[in-house]
Amino acid sequence: MRVLKYFFKWFWSLFRRKNEIDYLFVDDVPDHYANHIVYIVGEGHSWLLSMRCPCGCRRIIKLNTLKDAKPCWKYYIEANKITIQPSVWGVDGCRSHFIIRKGSVKWVDGAGV
Ligand SMILES: [Zn+2]
Repeated sequence: MRVLKYFFKWFWSLFRRKNEIDYLFVDDVPDHYANHIVYIVGEGHSWLLSMRCPCGCRRIIKLNTLKDAKPCWKYYIEANKITIQPSVWGVDGCRSHFIIRKGSVKWVDGAGV
């Protein structure tokens, strides 16, 4: 049983690593999206965060970062890790609800697992 416990720990760690999110500054919305990358779009001043839904559904998520428009998201980069506030909640499709904090996806209500 001990071995099984270690196995699950190892298996879980693999799964968790998949929840890591990186970021990339780009001038324009990308034609092709890589998984687990948040694109910070804008020349000089960013106006959009865009990424593939981390649940694996391949949906493209776009988050406005302009304060004048609502809803509006903020992002911070600390020690090369991105944090996005508030949480992201898909109103259609997979309805994933998650938070990106310090470069990793934290699922809300266990959605997307
Ligand atoms: Zn999804």
